[in-house]
Amino acid sequence: MIEPAEHRYLIALGSNRRVPGIGGPRAVLDAAIEAFKQEGWRVDGVSPWMASAPLGPSMRRYANGAAVIAGDAGPEDTLENLQSIEAEFGRERRGQRWGSRTLDLDIVLWGGGSWASKALSIPHPLFRGRHFVLRPAAQVAPTWRDPVTGLTLRQLAGRHGKL
Ligand code: ATP
Ligand code: CA
Ligand code: CA
Repeated sequence: MIEPAEHRYLIALGSNRRVPGIGGPRAVLDAAIEAFKQEGWRVDGVSPWMASAPLGPSMRRYANGAAVIAGDAGPEDTLENLQSIEAEFGRERRGQRWGSRTLDLDIVLWGGGSWASKALSIPHPLFRGRHFVLRPAAQVAPTWRDPVTGLTLRQLAGRHGKL
């Protein structure tokens, strides 16, 4: 019997808005982890949630975190699945980039290495410069290596200087 390939992903989660019926940003991230499970993902690890300052035009503080998930879906299907989970949480895509949002789910790393298509770049191009991604990522998967720099998440987070 041929087993389907398993894909592992490191996902960055962010929220800076309440969702009616769910609650504030931290409750939104908790609910997003439950949504992964409902979508058939195995959740192998979840970081603590951290508070971070707003990025770009939005004035609201964020809750950020990271999770390691595993399942059958390849990168493009996974992006689609993450976007449908974002939509379930009421995220609308017509707003400005970096605007206020109920839920943002980015693929930071993939066990298969690098991916580059029109819709999707893995590793996420900006993650190495973002404390709010590196810190939780290093907490949940300290020894996972960035295929581009060859550095572990712990090393990248340490190099960033705020850990
Ligand atoms: P940033 O990418 O700087 O974190 P953002 O998360 O606010 O910004 P979005 O509006 O959520 O940006 O996404 C814009 C597009 O980025 C998505 O439609 C998707 O096609 C693309 N994208 C490219 N690489 C990735 C990735 N690794 N994870 C998630 N989306 C990605
Ligand atoms: Ca993002
Ligand atoms: Ca995003």
